Amino acid sequence: RAGGEKFEFQAEVNRLMDIIINSLYSNKDIFLRELISNASDALDKIRFLSLTDPTILGEGEAAKLEIKIKLDKENKILTIRDRGIGMTKEDLIKNLGTIAKSGTSSFLEQMQKGGDLNLIGQFGVGFYSVYLVADTVEVVSKHNTDKQWVWESQADGSFTVYEDADGESLERGTEIRIHLKDEASEYADEDKLKALVSRYSQFINFPISLWASKEVDKEVPVEEEEEVEDDVADSKDEEESTEEEEEEVEEEDKPKTKTTKETVWDWELLNDVKPVWLRSPKDVPDEDYVKFYQSLTKESWAKPMSWAHFNAEGDVEFKAILYIPASAPPQFYDNYYTISPDVKLYVRRVFISDDFDDLLPRYLIFLKGIVDSDTLPLNVSREMLQQHSALKLIKKKLVRKALDMIRKIAEDDEDDTKKGADDDEAESADKGSKDPEARGKYAKFWGQYGKAIKLGIIEDASNRVRLAKLLRVHTSKSGDKLTSLEEYVSRMKPGQKQLYFISGESKEQLAQSPFVEKLLKKDYEVIYFTDPIDEYVTGQLTEFDDKKFQDATKEDLKVGERDEDEKKKFKETKEEFKDLTKWWKDVLGGSEVEGVKVSKRLHRTPCVVVTSKYGWSANMERLMKAQAM
Ligand code: ADP
Ligand code: MG
Repeated sequence: RAGGEKFEFQAEVNRLMDIIINSLYSNKDIFLRELISNASDALDKIRFLSLTDPTILGEGEAAKLEIKIKLDKENKILTIRDRGIGMTKEDLIKNLGTIAKSGTSSFLEQMQKGGDLNLIGQFGVGFYSVYLVADTVEVVSKHNTDKQWVWESQADGSFTVYEDADGESLERGTEIRIHLKDEASEYADEDKLKALVSRYSQFINFPISLWASKEVDKEVPVEEEEEVEDDVADSKDEEESTEEEEEEVEEEDKPKTKTTKETVWDWELLNDVKPVWLRSPKDVPDEDYVKFYQSLTKESWAKPMSWAHFNAEGDVEFKAILYIPASAPPQFYDNYYTISPDVKLYVRRVFISDDFDDLLPRYLIFLKGIVDSDTLPLNVSREMLQQHSALKLIKKKLVRKALDMIRKIAEDDEDDTKKGADDDEAESADKGSKDPEARGKYAKFWGQYGKAIKLGIIEDASNRVRLAKLLRVHTSKSGDKLTSLEEYVSRMKPGQKQLYFISGESKEQLAQSPFVEKLLKKDYEVIYFTDPIDEYVTGQLTEFDDKKFQDATKEDLKVGERDEDEKKKFKETKEEFKDLTKWWKDVLGGSEVEGVKVSKRLHRTPCVVVTSKYGWSANMERLMKAQAM
C-alpha cells in the first residue's frame, strides 16, 4: 500500500509463514481459536490495568469487554474485533513481525518435518495461523496511548504499517480483517463460524458474538384476498366443530393478522461466559472438563490424565481446577528449574497471571489449571500480590489437593492396589470397577511423573509422608511390577524392623549383590533403587510408617531378630576371628578402612567392603564421580 511504511519480517517469521502457507494441513480451523485467544488475552490485559485505573476503560460501548465477529460474505472478509488493550505502532511492528518466545526454532524444525501445527498457540506464534485461511490480513489497532494504526501483509516477506486516519475509530482495541483465500471460502459461513467457536472457544471468559441472521416470527396485517381464502377454510371446518366457530366469532372484532417468517440481523452470543470453575463440580460433565483443558492448553485433541475441581473455604477462599497432563513436559528433569508454571491465577474472576511462580512448588510444576481466589485483593500490583500472605495458604491447599488427586489415581487403579495378588483375582475384582480407564493408570502416572514425586520427597519436608505413600519401587518380590511402601510394610516378616534397600545400576545387578544375599536367603524383601535420584530420596526419607530405612551396603545392618543362642554364637565367632580382623586392619592401615568386622550379613560371599553409617554409599560415590566428569 502506498504511503505506508514497509518492514521486513524477521527470518524466523518468514520461515514460519512459508510453512503455514504451504501447509497441506487439513485442520485450518485453528486460526479462529488463535485469534479469539489473542483477543481474550488483550481483554484480560486491559481489565487488569483497569483494576488500578478504572478510567482506562472509557465509557459506554468502549467499556464493554467483548469480542465481535462479522462476516462480509460478498467480499469474503471475516472480521474479528476486540475491545482489548490494543497495539501501538511499535507494538504492531514488534508483536506481528518478530518472534519473541524461545523454542521457536525447535517448533519450526518440528513443523518442517510435518509436525502438528495444532500446537502453534503454545509457541507464541498463534497469530500467524491466520495465513492458513487468508491471503491478505489487515490488523487495525488502537491503543490508549497512540493513534489508530493498520498493519497489513500478504505474507510475502514484508508488512506495511500506516496510520488509519480515515477508518472508523475503534476507540480502543483491535480489529483483524481476514481476506479469505479461495480455498478457505468454507469460513465465509455463519454456521461454520458458530460451530468453530463452540468447539474451540467455548471457555473464553468474554462474550463472543457473531453478526448473524435469524428467522423470526412476524405478525403482518392480512390482505383482502387472503381473507377470502381463510373464509373458505373456515367454512369447511364449520361442519366439524362448533367450538372453533365460536372462537372465530370472537376474533372477528380484532384486526386480521397472520404470522410470517422474517430474516433479521443481530449480534448473537456464541459462548457461555460463566466460567467452568464457578460451576458446581457435580454439574460439570467430564466432557466439559476435557474441553476446558483443551482451551487452556490450546491443544484441541489433548486429553488430561486426571483432574480435580474443588472449592476451598475457610481462611482462604478459592476455586480451582487442576489437571495432570497426559505426559510430562519434555525433558522434565533436565529443565526442572526453567519450566514455566502453567496455572492461571484469577482474583474474583479477573485474570491476573499465568506464570505466577509461587502458586505451586517446583515439583508440581507439571500441573495445569486455574485458581480463582476471593481472598486476594484486586487492586494491588502483581508484585504485592506475589507477597500476599494468603498466597502461601493457597499454595499449601493446592499441594494437598494435588496430592489427593494423585493418591486417588492409585486408589482407583485395581492394578496398583491389587499388586501382588494373583492375576485371576485382579481380573474378577476389575468387574466392579467404575472407571474402566483406571486400570494401569497409576503405572502410567508413575512413568511420567515418578521423578516429580521423588523430587517432592527431597524438597518438601511438610508433605514428605504423603509423597512417600505415592512412591513406587522395585523390590526383590515385586517382579516386573512396582510396589508401594505400604505394601512393602504389609509384607514385612515378623520381627522385621527395617525397610531394606540397596541402590545401584540395575535390578538384576542388585539382586546378585553379596550385600543382599543373606537378606534374600532369609526371605526378606529388599527395595532396589536404580534411579540416581533415589540416593537423594533415601537421604531425606529416612523412615516410613515408623520403620527406618536401612541401606544393605552400610554398616549396622540388622537382619531380623536375634535370639539368645544366635547372639552367643556370634560372640564366639567374633572372638575366634579377632586376630584375623586385627591383622587385616593393620595391613590395610587406618587410612584405607575404618574397621574390619565379623558380620552376619553374608551368605555365600566371604567378605565385602561396606560404607559407614553416615558416609556416602558406594552407589553415591559412583554417581558423584560420574557427575564430576
Ligand atoms: P501469543 O499470543 O502466544 O503471544 P501470537 O502470535 O498469538 O502469540 O500473538 C503475538 C502477539 O501479538 C501477542 O503476544 C500480542 O502482544 C499481540 N497481539 C495479537 N493479537 C492481539 C490483539 N487482538 N490485541 C492486542 N495484541 C495482540
Ligand atoms: Mg496467541
